[in-house]
Amino acid sequence: MESPAKVMVVDDDEALLQTLGWILQEKGYTVVPVSDAADLMAKLEQERPDLVLLDIMMPGVDGLELLEQIKTDEQWRDIPVLMLSSMPPEDATVKAFTLGASDYIAKPFRVRELLARVEVRLKHANDLRRVRDEAKAGTEMVDILYEVTESLKPDEIYHILTRRVARALRLSKCSMVSSQPGSDTGLVVAAAENPMLRNLEIPLSKYPEVRRALETHETVLVTDVRTDPLYEDMRAEWERDGVQVTTRSTVVLPFSLRGEQAGVLFLRTTEDDPPLTQRDASFAEGVIKAAVNAIERAYDLEAAKSDSDRFEEMANTDPLTGCVNRRSMLDQLETELSRARRYRHPLTVLMIDLDWFKDINDTCGHLVGDRVLRRLGELLRDEARKMDVVARYGGEEFTLILPDTGIEGGIIFAERLRERAEKHDYAEDGDSLHVTISVGVATYSEGTVTAEEVIANADAALYRAKKGGRNQVHQ
Ligand code: GH3
Ligand code: MG
Ligand code: MG
Repeated sequence: MESPAKVMVVDDDEALLQTLGWILQEKGYTVVPVSDAADLMAKLEQERPDLVLLDIMMPGVDGLELLEQIKTDEQWRDIPVLMLSSMPPEDATVKAFTLGASDYIAKPFRVRELLARVEVRLKHANDLRRVRDEAKAGTEMVDILYEVTESLKPDEIYHILTRRVARALRLSKCSMVSSQPGSDTGLVVAAAENPMLRNLEIPLSKYPEVRRALETHETVLVTDVRTDPLYEDMRAEWERDGVQVTTRSTVVLPFSLRGEQAGVLFLRTTEDDPPLTQRDASFAEGVIKAAVNAIERAYDLEAAKSDSDRFEEMANTDPLTGCVNRRSMLDQLETELSRARRYRHPLTVLMIDLDWFKDINDTCGHLVGDRVLRRLGELLRDEARKMDVVARYGGEEFTLILPDTGIEGGIIFAERLRERAEKHDYAEDGDSLHVTISVGVATYSEGTVTAEEVIANADAALYRAKKGGRNQVHQ
């Protein structure tokens, strides 16, 4: 039995350290928590972990500097380091990646995604170690695999593979063609000779070598298309149509993902290049075999990620109106507030309450009341900008967070919402049904510290709007 992988978690936040410890141990990893990053290199030496989770911002130490130290040390060069950070991703991620970080996980993190990323990185490190250990693998192969496993996106892996194989074998053409069993077409998902190409459909009837590889599940090597019997029909067609074929030799390598035929790696040389040999074919075979693991994992990760995205979305959405729910709104308000504080940007919050809504329920019934709430939610989302947060605060109250918006802009926007809500006809059956809203506007200023305070100010303004006669905007 292999011993469990050892994960070192470096973070000054003790609570987070403990949580991560539980989560990782639950998954069977051995966890080494490090809250004080001084002497990290000595601790690495002592513990010899298989992977490091490293916080970017810690008091007194710079996570990126530590990352650089690790990655420039010959003995730790291959250890996957995943950076953890609550900073906005742009700057820090770019820097972290150029320094050799394997991945970047934003705090607050999603447990399933974090675990999936850790697992993928550990497996990649394993593959790399194995290939390095196999003396027969040339350094070129190790380099390619190294680059392939750096990426976690299937598309990107295809591009890297075609580009690197073409370069290693000095080919003029190298592409990745995906094709499902029984299909008469293939989809070129990446081509070294055309980096911009994406998902070009090709008829397999024109590619006898690809067809053969898919049918036999074996590598096809054609040294000269002008003489090989495989191309007899094609040659007749080329002659009839006056097609000048520049391809001279080809190698087609079929590959499967999770036991299912997935496609081929398709190498070609033209007239001027030396023809492909059995050695070239073996090299490319080795590459694709090693890369299949990485591709499979990239697809797994995508699935895990979209699962957790969907789950996340569900957990953050109010089921009746489709707006963000209160809990998630408060989280996002915290985030937006700290951004506003950091960049000295304004931020405005609107509290909206339907006027005399109880009467709607009483006269038209709750179902109609629900419909009104749903419609108003749609209307608010419709008017809001992409970066605004539209939330149902509860009952018949909605909250809007407007980043980068000051008090004047907030009032103008609130007034527009009020007018639209008033004009809208909520009836579905020919009658007419109108409701109005009251809006309280509050702006974050240097004085207000917490999300709760901003909300309380908007609430107080809303109360004034109600007192003032409803169907109005107050600040
Ligand atoms: P005001 O102008 O002072 O806001 O009057 P109002 O009638 O809107 O205020 P009040 O707070 O007295 O009543 C709110 C009503 O909203 C009571 C409740 O039945 C209704 N309500 C809250 N949540 C829902 C919901 O999910 N569906 C429906 N149909 N009604 C809801
Ligand atoms: Mg109301
Ligand atoms: Mg109310």
